[in-house]
Amino acid sequence: MAFNKRVKIKTILDQHPIGSEITLMGWVRTKRSNKNVSFIALNDGSIITNYQVVADPNLIAEDILKKCTTGACLKVSGTVVESQGAGQASELNAKSIEVLGEADPEKYPLQPKKHSLEFLREIAHLRMRTNTFGAVFRVRHALAFAVHQYFNDKGFFYIHTPIITASDAEGAGETFKVTTLDIANPPRTEAGSVDFKQDFFEREANLTVSGQLEGELAALALSEIYTFGPTFRAENSNTTRHLAEFWMIEPEMAFYDAEDNADLAEDFLKYLINYALKNCQEDLQFLENRLLDEEKSKPADQRSEMGLMDKLKFVAENEFVRITYTEAIEILKRSKPNQKKKFQFLIEEWGADLQSEHERFLVEKHFKKPVILTDYPKEIKSFYMRQNEDGKTVAAMDILFPGIGEIVGGSQREERMDLLVNRMEELGIPTDEMWWFLDTRRFGSTPHSGFGLGFERMVQFVTGMGNIRDVIAFPRTPGNAEF
Ligand code: ATP
Ligand code: MN
Repeated sequence: MAFNKRVKIKTILDQHPIGSEITLMGWVRTKRSNKNVSFIALNDGSIITNYQVVADPNLIAEDILKKCTTGACLKVSGTVVESQGAGQASELNAKSIEVLGEADPEKYPLQPKKHSLEFLREIAHLRMRTNTFGAVFRVRHALAFAVHQYFNDKGFFYIHTPIITASDAEGAGETFKVTTLDIANPPRTEAGSVDFKQDFFEREANLTVSGQLEGELAALALSEIYTFGPTFRAENSNTTRHLAEFWMIEPEMAFYDAEDNADLAEDFLKYLINYALKNCQEDLQFLENRLLDEEKSKPADQRSEMGLMDKLKFVAENEFVRITYTEAIEILKRSKPNQKKKFQFLIEEWGADLQSEHERFLVEKHFKKPVILTDYPKEIKSFYMRQNEDGKTVAAMDILFPGIGEIVGGSQREERMDLLVNRMEELGIPTDEMWWFLDTRRFGSTPHSGFGLGFERMVQFVTGMGNIRDVIAFPRTPGNAEF
């Protein structure tokens, strides 16, 4: 028999093949023993549920059983039988157990007891072996798969935009530099600055903050495209919503105006939620219970009104609220926390940038629904957003989610060459360096739109995890890149 002729626990739980001889492989979660028998709960990551192995000390040598401690990896062969105990329909009567990898119980850091998420972040190399992180990463996988399913079904093409780029035209944040120069002793120009002409790309380069600009080039050829890749921001944001390395999904569509863009974004977000509800039931149920448990320590009035799955269903089944920035400012001005000076940043006049406290007020207190906010002042948005007739606002769209704040940022793009160039000049963005971007407006320009969904924020929303560091396997944040 080939080594990997094993059956996944998920398959066994789907089929309960009573009477068959099978081999399982997985990691011990717990072991209980009495004189006559040992019960080993095995998990192989294919599903959250453990599978019970029953080991008779007359068949399995004592020294082997001794090594079946929490964290050890086992290969177990035996017969599937109807379970005697409650809690499972079948179990495996072990005929042989091979310890593939021992785990010294004195040293193995994961014990059957509950560990805090903070502690588990310090052992991120092992935390995927817990129920919580197993659930999170299975849901994350399902959502990633659903992204491709959704766009493929709609005839969008997946474009791989570059990870190394030569400009931060978007101004989305601080960038990480990419260089092969000797940083201790870089070549200098006559004027004394670092001579990037001698660098690998013969110019300054950095890790991308967004695939949008390249995505636009693709959309103006293939009509409807999306990107799904890593993006990097060296912003020093130590929040529960920011990573230095995160994954972004950026659809970009020719022939879409701002309303088409919002329609697509709303439909897409609902699709992802429904996909998880349909395909991740056990994991979501576990995560819902985890949240309920976590909330027991909170005062009653701070607990959420809905369980995780009800919250997901609510968002998937109800229309998002659509309002303009101007309407939002009016609501915020009149709001209690503004009047009572409870906001850290008070809203006094039109033009103010919205902070996450304002976004969360609108979504969580005022509307109690996801909100699509449109038509922001041009001063607080990027140069490429399409200018509205009023001369003050642009066709921007942010989507705000309960518990998360901004989950999507997008816009209709400025397709008119003269207006685009004027705006770039106003903002001091070098038009000559951006010649390739401007060529799309020079040749065969057309209305087009797009948006960016922060994938980890979406995984946070669906799993209910409070900290973004707990929905990516190896989080990169300021001062943190160990694993
Ligand atoms: P924020 O104001 O929350 O920092 P942003 O306005 O900088 O977000 P965009 O540049 O519009 O965000 O990026 C598009 C999407 O990418 C955001 O809506 C969000 O979901 C996600 N995103 C942005 N920055 C980060 C980050 N540092 N970590 C994780 N996700 C992010
Ligand atoms: Mn940001």
